Amino acid sequence: MRVFSASLATETNTFGPMPTGLASFKDRGHFPAGKHPDAMTLFSGPLWAARMRGADKGWQLFEGMVAGAQPSGTTTRHAYETLRDELLDDLRAVLPVDMVLLGLHGAMVADGYDDCEGDLLARVRQIVGPKVVIGAELDPHNHLTPEMVANSDLMISFKEYPHTDVLERGLELVDICAAMVEGKVKPVAAVVDCDMIVTVHTSREPALGFVKRMQSLEGKDGVLSVSLTHGFSWGDVPEMGTKVLVYTDGDQAKADALARQLADEVIAMRDGLTVNYPSIDASLDEALAFDGGPVVLSDGADNPGGGAASDSTFILRRMVERGIANAALGPLWDPIAVRIAFDAGVGAKLAMRIGGKISPLSGDPLDAECTVKALKHDLVMTGLAGTPTPMGDCALIETNGIEIVLITLRNQAMGTDLFTQLGCDLAAKKIIVVKSSQHFYASYSKVARHVIYAGAPGAVTLDLNTLPYKKARLPKWPIGVAA
Ligand SMILES: [Zn+2]
Repeated sequence: MRVFSASLATETNTFGPMPTGLASFKDRGHFPAGKHPDAMTLFSGPLWAARMRGADKGWQLFEGMVAGAQPSGTTTRHAYETLRDELLDDLRAVLPVDMVLLGLHGAMVADGYDDCEGDLLARVRQIVGPKVVIGAELDPHNHLTPEMVANSDLMISFKEYPHTDVLERGLELVDICAAMVEGKVKPVAAVVDCDMIVTVHTSREPALGFVKRMQSLEGKDGVLSVSLTHGFSWGDVPEMGTKVLVYTDGDQAKADALARQLADEVIAMRDGLTVNYPSIDASLDEALAFDGGPVVLSDGADNPGGGAASDSTFILRRMVERGIANAALGPLWDPIAVRIAFDAGVGAKLAMRIGGKISPLSGDPLDAECTVKALKHDLVMTGLAGTPTPMGDCALIETNGIEIVLITLRNQAMGTDLFTQLGCDLAAKKIIVVKSSQHFYASYSKVARHVIYAGAPGAVTLDLNTLPYKKARLPKWPIGVAA
């Protein structure tokens, strides 16, 4: 069997302050054909799974480009078309193939393209023809457009949020696609739009149980795969929203009925899925009132994984103003401050201007007396599913009893080793503020005694009714719906 794999992925916050250009892909990882490193990355699950299965089964593997950018604002037309065409050229160069496996996100928006993945899959289909199997692994924060469904044979989203199941879903994708090539199964798809947009934390009920529910249905009674598209509220496109995707083996009526049934179950549990976001002061009050620690505060509104700059100072400033010490905060993206910290050296005490640089959504910079406590070149954090996550040169500085990790490559808090590699003793802190909406949970829940999802301002604002939507079909619960 001749198998082609490749990846092009980013999640586009169309309200984000910074465009996503080619440099953003180079920063996070752009591996030309045949150059993928010997470690899985967040969106190379299909490539990695193909390597594993292919070794057992003697497949001929052809690895095309793998490129992913940290989420940011709208992707430039130049970046999207350049990378898309590189991937398509890689595919053309190895034809004929039996199977195309793509690692996609599903919420990439470029200038002139509301649906990058739909465009890419349509072009792949045009190149390989109707008989070659096309499969894709998606992030559940996708937009799941009709074009994506129509131009692929199978798409499987990560089920977990935090996305810890990249490899498991990749292996399922590869196995079902291989069975399709061998003529053993014939997936047919059904999609039901839940007409809402929800946050689905699978770390707790009711979503924890719904993941098990989906998995209990798969692999029997003709059901091949069930995926829940959580949706991505910060992508202003017509197809934004929560959806259910079901594939059965050739039974369209069954797929339709099951997708409808599961969508109704998700709609019925939406109040239970809703996350409470107390204000900054209410979050700090709750953390201080908690007996012991550490208490982890999620600053989801400034999560770079959702397209924010990750340099906002709203929470930091209130902590300084309120005299809240014995705390840690990070990662705060500030390459200029890192450069200054490196020049000053470990142990230096100096006035620094921290964060608040990218846009009004980052707040004002914080001017403070700081001590440089640690410096590290090319720090690598342990990311989701063990994927190595470069953070660039990093500095640990301390001001007003708060230790702050400054980074040069934008990334959210996923592994606690972000702090501990710089000598920050998280277990001894009262409060740990993380720039992350939910991916932090996989690792930080092991040290946290309590978790608070704080409602700060930012580019990933949690107050969806304040976003200036133009293309999304509204109302879409809870957006535009009276409480
Ligand atoms: Zn996601």
